[in-house]
Amino acid sequence: MSRNLDPLRQAYDMDEFAKRAHHLIAQLAPNVQKSLNRDTDEVLAWQTANAFWQKGIQALVDDPVQLLQQIEDQSIRLHHPRYMGHQIAPVLPLTALAGLMSQLLNNGMGVYEMGMAGTIMEREVLEEVAAAIGYSEGYSGIMTSGGTLANLTALLAARQVQSEHDIWEDGYLPGERLAIMVSEEAHYSVQRAIKIMGWGERGIVKIPVDEAYRLRADLLAPALDHARQQGLRVIGVVGSACSTATGSFDPLDAIGAFCEAENLWFHVDAAHGGPAIFAPENRSLLRGIEKADSVLMDFHKMALCPALCTALLFKDAKDSYQTFSQKAAYLWEDPSDQEWYNLGKRTFECTKHMMSLAPFLLHRTYGFELVGTYVDQMFALGHTFGERLASADDFELLVKPACNIVCFRYCSSSASNQNELNRAIRARLRDEGRFYIVQTELKGKVYLRTALMNPFTEISDLEALMEEIRRIANSLLG
Ligand SMILES: *Cc1c(COP(=O)(O)O)cnc(C)c1O
Repeated sequence: MSRNLDPLRQAYDMDEFAKRAHHLIAQLAPNVQKSLNRDTDEVLAWQTANAFWQKGIQALVDDPVQLLQQIEDQSIRLHHPRYMGHQIAPVLPLTALAGLMSQLLNNGMGVYEMGMAGTIMEREVLEEVAAAIGYSEGYSGIMTSGGTLANLTALLAARQVQSEHDIWEDGYLPGERLAIMVSEEAHYSVQRAIKIMGWGERGIVKIPVDEAYRLRADLLAPALDHARQQGLRVIGVVGSACSTATGSFDPLDAIGAFCEAENLWFHVDAAHGGPAIFAPENRSLLRGIEKADSVLMDFHKMALCPALCTALLFKDAKDSYQTFSQKAAYLWEDPSDQEWYNLGKRTFECTKHMMSLAPFLLHRTYGFELVGTYVDQMFALGHTFGERLASADDFELLVKPACNIVCFRYCSSSASNQNELNRAIRARLRDEGRFYIVQTELKGKVYLRTALMNPFTEISDLEALMEEIRRIANSLLG
């Protein structure tokens, strides 16, 4: 059989690859530019899942680039300045090239031999983060697939370190009841991690929040006493920086001091707000973060990288090896040795993509100062939007925003049910597709919620959003 008739080998034709890549970039770049420039007013072309499934994705099978183009058409546009929904980064274009290369080379990251460059880049990125946090020598860390998995990974280490026996080997002893204290506003992934560890609902000791939705550090001591009276062994406290729904930063300094005094593990979930360590004007929101035994931050939220890309750091390098103490002799030279460079020993993932490439490229090209500038700019926009909402009679602001997450609701005396009105407004905004925002429910009230993620969003876009909401409310109320 002639070589160029072998379909498998032909599918590896690199000239074809280069042609398609050029073609794709030539279409994609101007489209993303169009979004950034507001040359289109469509943030998303909404259709229900069932309708979309019925229709399917129509495309010419003989042209994969056209297929990709169609998929782009039917995707939500995070680069549009009127995208203000979930807290995912409008990707810095350079870091998308990292994605392309990492996917083509497919260097796994479980063992050093398979991912040499990735391992070194990962260590360099983590060193930058650790230095910004204020960790001294002796820290260690890993990168993993998302804040959710990083929370589980950190809490598994906390469990092993805090336990008086080898939980990883022996499992729980009869009657052993462990628990963690966490704000009632923490991300659901913390509760999920606790339940995965098998502690059930009673393993979650919820600490009430203050009027700004921050964990009340003054209630930690009484909550600890109460939990102990109930026979629970509390092993640590989770601080949120910030909480997802309201963007509130827990008082890390006070929680850290409490954990130090009580010899508890202090974990900081800084999935969203962590990059503020690079932001001169907002770094103080994270005061006390250096006290944390473990800290996570997502690069795919406020650090402009493609998902998933999460850093998890441990103040004490030893702890980083406690998460999974299991042996896999075929992978590692010496399973009892702490080989920092065989990262799969410490991650949930076995095969892991070259996750460090995007933040590494960002750091080496622009410096993480660019991330700091971005954070300061977006948080400032959040503050300004908060002021606009507070001074409008027909809007109610939940709390003065601490960052770029802003919760508010439209109020009308002619609406019989404000919750229903705000739900309907949100749904209409999505259906019309010129803005994308989300909603949340707090203390029984429905709020509209924006995470201002796009550096091209201006206060005029937010004023336009307010006008759009008024228009929709008028039409809904007849
Ligand atoms: C987004 C978020 C998470 C989950 O992170 P993923 O990367 O989406 O898994 C966890 N905690 C907080 C506070 C978050 O904002």
